[in-house]
Amino acid sequence: MPQPILEVTDLKVRFSTPEGIVEAVNGISFAIEEGETLGVVGESGSGKSQIFMTVMGLLAQNGQATGSARYRGKELLGMPIAELNTIRGGRMGMIFQDPMTSLNPYLTVRRQLTEVLVQHKGMSEREATNAAIGMLDRVRIPEPEKRIHQYPHEFSGGMRQRVMIAMAMLCKPDLLIADEPTTALDVTIQAQIIELMKQLRETSRTAIVLITHDLGVVAGLSDRVMVMYAGRIVETGTAREIFYDPQHPYTRGLLASMPRLDEQRADILETIAGQPPNLQRLPPGCPFRPRCPYAFDRCEPELPLLRNIGAPGRAKACHLERLP
Ligand code: SF4
Repeated sequence: MPQPILEVTDLKVRFSTPEGIVEAVNGISFAIEEGETLGVVGESGSGKSQIFMTVMGLLAQNGQATGSARYRGKELLGMPIAELNTIRGGRMGMIFQDPMTSLNPYLTVRRQLTEVLVQHKGMSEREATNAAIGMLDRVRIPEPEKRIHQYPHEFSGGMRQRVMIAMAMLCKPDLLIADEPTTALDVTIQAQIIELMKQLRETSRTAIVLITHDLGVVAGLSDRVMVMYAGRIVETGTAREIFYDPQHPYTRGLLASMPRLDEQRADILETIAGQPPNLQRLPPGCPFRPRCPYAFDRCEPELPLLRNIGAPGRAKACHLERLP
């Protein structure tokens, strides 16, 4: 078996807040292989972003992580920042929902794109500028030779997102973490960005982690899907298994609340009843129990653990054998 690009084992993340301890990630394990796309789905507060902020060394100061996160066998948790910086931005890239998180409004796009190449690849300014223009062209920024000299505010939201993807892809990362990369964009631009990420995956063999609350985005791009709730994985499987045979009530609820272009039912979408979980006051037993239409007597006292339910990688955390 080839070594995974990223292997996370029993990762726990906790935050100290004035209101008490928040257990944001509760013992997550998974691995990503080269060229694979993993969709990580859940509502806000499910812990999905915190896993990858931790992996990238971007945990907030009041956060504490235990467990292991290995990039090509090297432990990232606790790695000195200088060493982490050689991996981050070089071999591991990250794109965020808001491009302005990554783009500096006071520097031209050229300066921001070339900096990574000069720093991480040792290129000259001229070589770096040519490579950056080539990448802007690849992400379909029109007139890249001219636009590279502009500032981020001179680009539309969709274009800024492309610039951020170009920046993340310039060093040819083998792992790209995309956190809600299309959420702020309209549907047409969303589709273009997904298409772009697909092409990049195919031409560069980049492994992609796609973090989103939107199963529609995941469907278009992911090989495997990990569904999260209250800081735990509640279901995993191939994209096909998750979409055509969901086996956790929460996954089924997410699918039912997803608009489908093939059905004229946008007006009768179901939503998942109840409130997202309060991580400071999780109920005993199954965290999804207060919202679960199938809850039964075993669900209150007993936390369901993630267990295999078929082929390797197919698992769920629910006491029910099969969904009715
Ligand atoms: Fe619902 Fe019980 Fe399954 Fe939790 S364990 S998802 S409450 S059926």
